[in-house]
Amino acid sequence: MELVKESIKNLKEYKTNKIDFKIKLDANEGKNILLQDIYKEGIKFNEDFNLNFYPDNDAYLLKQEIKKYLNVDTSNIIAGNGSSEMIELVIKTFVDKGEIILSPIPTFSMYSVFSQIYSAQFIGIQSNEDFKVDIDKLIEKSNELNPKVIFICNPNNPTGNLINKNDIKKLLENTNGLVVVDEAYMEFAEGSMVDEISNYENLIVLRTLSKALGLAGIRLGYMTANQKIIDVINKVKSPYNLNAISQYIGVKALKNKDKIFEYIEEVKNEREFLYKELNEMKIKAYKSYANFIFFKWDINNLYEKLIDYGILIRKFSDELEGYYRVSVGNKNENERFIKILKEIIENEK
Ligand code: PMP
Repeated sequence: MELVKESIKNLKEYKTNKIDFKIKLDANEGKNILLQDIYKEGIKFNEDFNLNFYPDNDAYLLKQEIKKYLNVDTSNIIAGNGSSEMIELVIKTFVDKGEIILSPIPTFSMYSVFSQIYSAQFIGIQSNEDFKVDIDKLIEKSNELNPKVIFICNPNNPTGNLINKNDIKKLLENTNGLVVVDEAYMEFAEGSMVDEISNYENLIVLRTLSKALGLAGIRLGYMTANQKIIDVINKVKSPYNLNAISQYIGVKALKNKDKIFEYIEEVKNEREFLYKELNEMKIKAYKSYANFIFFKWDINNLYEKLIDYGILIRKFSDELEGYYRVSVGNKNENERFIKILKEIIENEK
């Protein structure tokens, strides 16, 4: 296509899976605990809100609930169409053509995709052999390259590892760029930077309702940062970016937020089960602080073999060829996954 802008000529479409599956462990979605009551009650459209009006541009009621959830002021929040929109908004607001965006790699692909779309230069800093992030190397690179933005995915997708708070603070204190900490999976770990937003002018924290809160279908994510950052990003945000139904369900769900803690504990226990089982099978699995496990396996076509059994996981390509990521499912799903893996190994012998 001749007319397309240069920066996206080589961009690949974000393809999702339409394969028929019985057990879906590919996208780290959570259980629908907070939706159960809403399903029962139903939504009374004319009474709850009128869809002929635009939604609240400021998502006031939703921000009130996020305030209670995170203990941050509403003036420090922007909500939108998934944390993916938040990633895009940060780049759109702060990064000019050709400027540098830095991130440890491997990590969530959308940082580099949005960098490319906005003609920024994405530079990935390779993590250690065990996928741990070397913060001193990152600081050194930041001093050398002077990035506008540094993305830190914590816990990291897809590796599951966690950077401790002191390391992130060290980075914040030793860079001129904005540090965006993507905490999509932080409910499954400890060490959120949310309570540091008033201490650092260059800190943005991203969160989502798609994972631990089990609401991926409503596409609701948000960021929190000091007010100067929020004010400038608000100038760039599209009007009415968060639809009325998602705002409504987000509010209802967050009012019941206490119900997720038991689920989070269950995920942590199941994560240990998977980690232990995989390692006992001599599969190299990485310790995870999220709701998934990253592992390496050299059996050919593992992904396809699992699909034959109706199990969908995530596979990687290029430099991560041979690596896989499996979401932590419920007890039955995890047991079935392990059982099938054992069968596949047996059949390979
Ligand atoms: N950040 C990370 C690290 C993710 O893994 C994901 C989803 N895979 C997102 C952001 C985007 O989440 P959402 O747009 O659903 O909020």
